[in-house]
Amino acid sequence: MSYDLVISGGTIVTATGSFAADLAVSGERIGAIVAPGTPLEAGRTIDATGRHVIPGAIDVHSHHREPGFTHKEDIVTATSACAAGGVTTSFAMPNVQPPPNTVERLDAMIELYNERSIVDWNINAAGTVPDQIAEMATRGIAAFKVFMVVDTGRDYPHMPGIGVHDHGKLLEIFETVEPTGLALMVHPHDQALMTHIEEGFWARGEHDALAYAKAYSALDGIIWDTAAALLLRLQKATGTRLHLLHTQTTGVIDQLRAVRAEGRAVTAELNPWAVFLGNDWNNIVKWGSYALSYYVPEKNTEPLWAALADGTIDLISTDHAPHTREEKEPGWTDGWKAHTGTPAAQFYVPMFLDAAVRGRLSLERTVELLATAPARAFGLADKGRLEVGAHADIAVVNLDRELEITDDIVLSKIGWTPYAGMRVRGVVEATLVRGAVVYEDGRVTGAPGWGRQARPAR
Ligand SMILES: [Zn+2]
Repeated sequence: MSYDLVISGGTIVTATGSFAADLAVSGERIGAIVAPGTPLEAGRTIDATGRHVIPGAIDVHSHHREPGFTHKEDIVTATSACAAGGVTTSFAMPNVQPPPNTVERLDAMIELYNERSIVDWNINAAGTVPDQIAEMATRGIAAFKVFMVVDTGRDYPHMPGIGVHDHGKLLEIFETVEPTGLALMVHPHDQALMTHIEEGFWARGEHDALAYAKAYSALDGIIWDTAAALLLRLQKATGTRLHLLHTQTTGVIDQLRAVRAEGRAVTAELNPWAVFLGNDWNNIVKWGSYALSYYVPEKNTEPLWAALADGTIDLISTDHAPHTREEKEPGWTDGWKAHTGTPAAQFYVPMFLDAAVRGRLSLERTVELLATAPARAFGLADKGRLEVGAHADIAVVNLDRELEITDDIVLSKIGWTPYAGMRVRGVVEATLVRGAVVYEDGRVTGAPGWGRQARPAR
């Protein structure tokens, strides 16, 4: 039998173990995994000697900005960053314009992705219009998304039509999503508490990015903890599959541990900024709004790594949220006027591989958090694992090479990264999506339109 491509000489890493093997690709799928050096006939061989071969990362939380905000990012630039970063599937969040909160808008967005995505993709539809939910669920999506955030003077990122903080409306959304069997992703936030906290800062004349950072983490993360408590209680009442976004406080970790013990349909994610960026006050002093997603006081850092290791946090997603420098600059004087969020799609796999090299997590658990667990949580039966028959979604990584992260190599349209200057062990040398090489030797080789919707198996 002849294969299309063979990756030879590498160490295959799965969620359950690592071993030396050659991997053969047949069409879009993994055709064979055999002992190193087994003679295989192939159209092409990638020599992975000294490299690790891992399942491509599955990022279920990314802001690709198209349609509506293509001055920040678009599907081609976002999925180029994915390809370069070893990400083979990326789910788009719905805070675009118009937001996909109706069937018609979702269908239009799906068409855009079919034409433009380089890697496999899906769209987390906005679950804010209950009478649209059942039909939107038939479009191959894996999840709905709701932000519990309202606009605080900006028209982005929380435009009308996607934010809900009324508890009754949230309950209605949970009830409506439940029969679809799909997950409901929620950005936890408590606007009533936040309003009071913000007014305190403003009354003292504190408006800059530092004040903004402190406000969102005030009272030991009270806005995050109370919102998570509400969401977990709504989940218990309805049985809806809940995916909790932005895990970052010990308070939420404790709640998740209790929920785990009850075996409830809850998953939770960690975003890279919570352990590599916003957890260092020096970054926020130095970079202001450029370092904010959110400030995560350092006392949370060790508990977060422990929760990643022990399964309390199920998976890692980027919360890739590019904004232009012009949109960040106002933060020096008014943190509330700067757009919140930081880009991460291109570099988070190397950063977490580096953490594994440094012994923070095992390589196997890292692969599970980046690929296997998200595939399992969102029903992507063909993805997230290196096994015969699975999609050949693969990253070849070199853990002996160091990557220096710089603005120059950023493929996101914004041209900057808050991780500039960081040196990490773990270079993505090649990325394959369903057998096609989409990134190799520092160049994106995938074509827009190759990416396909990663539909859950139901
Ligand atoms: Zn986000």
